[in-house]
Amino acid sequence: MNASDNSPLIETSGLSRQFGQKLALNNVSLKIPRGRVFGLVGENGAGKTTLIKHVLGLLRAESGSVRVFGFDPVTDPVAVLSRIGYLSENRDLPPWMRVDELLRYTQAFYPKWDPAFAEELRNQFGLDPAAKIKNLSRGENAKAGLLIALAFRPELLLLDEPSSGLDPMVRRDILEAIIRTVADEGRTVFFSSHLLEEVERVADDIAMMFAGEVVLTGTLDDIKENHHRLILHFESPPAGAPGIPGVLSLTGSGREWTAICNGSRSAVMAGVARVGGQVVAEDTASLDEIFVARAGAKAARKE
Ligand code: ATP
Repeated sequence: MNASDNSPLIETSGLSRQFGQKLALNNVSLKIPRGRVFGLVGENGAGKTTLIKHVLGLLRAESGSVRVFGFDPVTDPVAVLSRIGYLSENRDLPPWMRVDELLRYTQAFYPKWDPAFAEELRNQFGLDPAAKIKNLSRGENAKAGLLIALAFRPELLLLDEPSSGLDPMVRRDILEAIIRTVADEGRTVFFSSHLLEEVERVADDIAMMFAGEVVLTGTLDDIKENHHRLILHFESPPAGAPGIPGVLSLTGSGREWTAICNGSRSAVMAGVARVGGQVVAEDTASLDEIFVARAGAKAARKE
C-alpha cells in the first residue's frame, strides 16, 4: 500500500464534473477516514452518484484529483476495485440468474469471498437460492446486492442509496446493523442517502452536498455541537428577516422567529440584541434543519 494508515482512505481534491450545461460536481474536496462510517447526504441530483462513480474510476476526473487507498482508480482499477464492495443505486444484477448462481458467479471474482458468511447472510435476508433475480422484489434485490457487496469482507463498503427499496424495519434492523459491524471490525463504510435521520443514526462523519457542492463536512458530533436552534422574540416585529452574523437561516414572522446558527453562541446573542431581539429558547438543531439552512445559504449566495 502506498498510503499510510493515517492517510484518508478516499481523498478528492478540487474535483469538478460537467455534463453539458450541468455542473454535477463543483470543486469537491473531501477526506474520508479509515475505519469509520461516512454518510454522504444530499437531495436527488445533488451529485452523490457522480462522486461515487469517480471513486470507482467509472468517471475520469475532468479537473481535480481522486485517490482511493492512495491510488488513482482510473489508472489502477484492480488495486482499487478488488478492495471495494459496491452496491449501486440501480442494483443492476443480471436478471436471468438465480440467487445461488449469482453467489457462485460473484465468488469467482473475489479470492477472499467467504462462502459460510455468504450463506449466513442469505439466510438472514430470507433469500431463496432458487429464485430468479428478475422475480425478486425491490427490497429482495437490494438485499441480494448488499449480500454480494459484503461477502468478501471488503476494506471499503461503498453503498449508493442502500435504503432505497428497503422497508423501515429492514433498514434499521439489518442495514444499519451491518454498517456498524463493518466499521466495528475496522473497515470503512461510505454510503449515500437522502434520508437525513438515517445518516444521523449511523454515520460518524458526514458531508452534505447541494447542487454539486459540499456545503458542510465534519464529524457528526462536531456538526451537532456547533449548530443551534434559537427562538427569538422581538418586542417590535421587524419588517423582514434581520441579518445577524452567525445565523444561517431565519424563518418566522411578527414577534417570533426561529434561527439556525453556527459557531459562537455569545456572538450570535450579541447580534440578536443589536437588532432588538431576545433569545427565549435554544436547543440543538436537527441535521435536517442544518441541511436546509446550509443549502438555503448556498442557494442565496448564488442568486
Ligand atoms: P440521485 O439520488 O437522484 O441519483 P445524485 O445526488 O446521485 O441524485 P447524480 O446522479 O450524481 O445525483 O446527478 C447529479 C446531476 O448530474 C443531476 O442533475 C443529473 O441529472 C446529472 N447527470 C448525472 N449523470 C449524467 C450523465 N451521464 N449525463 C448527463 N447528466 C448527468
